[in-house]
Amino acid sequence: MMKIFQNFLSLFLKSSCPLCQRPTDKELCPYCIRQIQSCHKQNPAYLWKQPLPIFVWGSYGGAVKRAIAALKYENQPQIGYVFGQWLGESWLLHSPQPQQQVLVVPIPMHPKKQKQRGFNQAALIAEGFCNVTGYKLKVNGLERIKETEALFNLSPAERRETLADAFILGKDLRRLPNIPILLVDDIYTTGATVKAAVKTFEQHQIKVLGVAAVATTNKQK
Ligand SMILES: [Zn+2]
Repeated sequence: MMKIFQNFLSLFLKSSCPLCQRPTDKELCPYCIRQIQSCHKQNPAYLWKQPLPIFVWGSYGGAVKRAIAALKYENQPQIGYVFGQWLGESWLLHSPQPQQQVLVVPIPMHPKKQKQRGFNQAALIAEGFCNVTGYKLKVNGLERIKETEALFNLSPAERRETLADAFILGKDLRRLPNIPILLVDDIYTTGATVKAAVKTFEQHQIKVLGVAAVATTNKQK
């Protein structure tokens, strides 16, 4: 009952931070923003190397982990957009190839899963990213046609097997682009998912510049 009353009040007062419930008029309160910013990598381009260059905003842990969980499982899509803007700002400051024009394509979810969640977090991140960088967004550049279970308990070979043919070219890329793709995702772990996505583009002779992700489990700075 108290909770309902508080929610009712917050409609008339300031809204509250989705991570700590402190009142704030922004998507996140200054306290949580500071906590999250402390996970920002000093050199987000440290994984930017062939065969698959990766640009990562921060470390996956602490406040970042909590914020991504709230985004995905507590229906807080606005956090995705904020992360995307931070990723974009970081890209403009640290990207090894800032002058390179790209088409931004988020890693898609299977339509059934997206319908359950109501949104694709990678698409929201990509939107915020494009808002800051000015790059063109191709939300439906890829389509996920295979439902895959959680990958974390699978071996590398099983992951590859599970993700084979998971993606097809989406309706936004029916005309082949003449500039490369930059993939956007929320978390970069083993890279199995993005590698499967890259393979799909390569089958159509579309070049992928790399991947931009909000966070990585890779411990290096
Ligand atoms: Zn907060």
